Amino acid sequence: MAHAVKELFPDARLAIGPATDEGFYYDFDIDRTFTPEDLYLIEKKMSEIINRNNPFVCKVIPREEAVKLFREKGETYKVELLHEITDENVTLYQEGDFVDLCRGPHIESAGQVKAFKLLSVAGAYWRGNEKNKMLQRIYGTAFTDEKDLKKYLDFLEEVKKRDHRRLGKELELFSIGEEIGAGLIIWHPNGALIRRTIEEFWLNEHYRAGYKILYTPHIAKLDLWKKSGHLDFYRENMYSPMEIEGVDYEIKPMNCPFHIHVYKSSLRSYKELPIKYAELGTVYRYERSGVLHGLLRVRGFTQDDAHIFCREDQIEDEVLNVLDFTLYVLKTFGFKQYDTYLSTRPEHYVGTPESWERATNALKNALELKGLSYDIDPGEGVFYGPKIDIKVKDVLNRPWQCSTIQVDFNNPERFDITYRGSEDKEQRPIMIHRALMGSLERFFGILIEHYAGAFPVWLAPLQVKVLTIAKRHNDYARNLTEKLKSEEIRAESDLENEKIGYKIRNATVMKVPYLVIIGDREVSEGNITVRKRTGENIGPFTIDKFIRIIKKEIDSKQ
Ligand code: ZN
Repeated sequence: MAHAVKELFPDARLAIGPATDEGFYYDFDIDRTFTPEDLYLIEKKMSEIINRNNPFVCKVIPREEAVKLFREKGETYKVELLHEITDENVTLYQEGDFVDLCRGPHIESAGQVKAFKLLSVAGAYWRGNEKNKMLQRIYGTAFTDEKDLKKYLDFLEEVKKRDHRRLGKELELFSIGEEIGAGLIIWHPNGALIRRTIEEFWLNEHYRAGYKILYTPHIAKLDLWKKSGHLDFYRENMYSPMEIEGVDYEIKPMNCPFHIHVYKSSLRSYKELPIKYAELGTVYRYERSGVLHGLLRVRGFTQDDAHIFCREDQIEDEVLNVLDFTLYVLKTFGFKQYDTYLSTRPEHYVGTPESWERATNALKNALELKGLSYDIDPGEGVFYGPKIDIKVKDVLNRPWQCSTIQVDFNNPERFDITYRGSEDKEQRPIMIHRALMGSLERFFGILIEHYAGAFPVWLAPLQVKVLTIAKRHNDYARNLTEKLKSEEIRAESDLENEKIGYKIRNATVMKVPYLVIIGDREVSEGNITVRKRTGENIGPFTIDKFIRIIKKEIDSKQ
């Protein structure tokens, strides 16, 4: 692709062009914006180059010589990259008259490329730093045959249809406003209603599972974050402090220190443990603008956070409880497949090797008792303790990191929290940080794509839409809507003076689960036929029967 771009646009300068899991990209510095027509021309040129079938030849030359070569070619980005390489020699690959700095390896000749496609163009800052120049990145993919390429392109089409940013706008769920700021989510009424429904479910289940719910502030003294160690370990994700009456305050990146504060507010005995505090805690973390992505990567988000304070001998049971809870919650939202990871002790860590081993074994035992197969991520634990990560797989089999369960030996030490043991001695509890959904924003983004916006009835912002064929049916529709609402079913009527086909289309676009169409027959017989958003008709029912059906569906959360 880079060769083709250089042949078509000799002024383009080459930056970097790696292979990725999904294909490849290359960043170009060029004074024009690549258009879809350009991509088409580049593809044609690529096919030409493939037909030439020139070999890829590897050359090892002294670094200084490579600097000279690329400088002469005006490839300043390559020169910059070469200055960072400390090896004496570097490798170049040549194909026809095109040469690039590359570690390799490569296919033997261009003719081995069988099926490829350029997918998109996006702006990308040189080295991902927004202070640098914005380059143009062309994404593409390649397969060994056309069939696999086609399969992948179909998959991408499906991904596009489910894009939560597009659906978020169409279904009036959320927005991100230029004038509000990047990575900050505004929940519109439909999205907010779904969020409230999720929150209510979350709240009820947490009370049921023995958690106590907390609310904590969005800012706190900077000193708190010094004490928690975040200023040392997490500074690059934190915003600059603000001054209030001569004291520095910081917007919170984490909820943990607040929960510790509540734990410390009274003397604790071993009999009280475990103590479980949960909060839908909104935190703010700095992410570069280049990596922000819809609801999936944001700057302000609400974690479904909880902290369990327990004795070391309780870790296994507590982790088992959390695993049960997690799988139950994920299943409720339609996720039945997961990839599970256990991350073990990294090179730098706090606590003793023995306590790490005991905690890691407790996590392992819990996973095995649950019958969950898992992979070990050696050395990938956080410095403060081992952890379990669960990635849910959506309907397109894409993995998403949501749930995490982390053992912490560090914070109890830093904040000097204790409990009175059975022999009246001061003991140090263990802290477990856990999130089931991760963040509400991200989880919502995943849900939108998983369901393609067609939320199950219990989550759907509008559950029933009543549509009238003619004006004379309006009173009947109004009464029906009121009756549904009095049964706590989210219902609305469309009494506009429009054709019924138009009304059905509108409600279908909004993915309303049930449409009730009222005409002469419905009014005279008192029965209704219900149209599902899939187009299938069910009924006729009496209104009471319809109410029973829909309430059952809401209760079962299916
Ligand atoms: Zn925490």
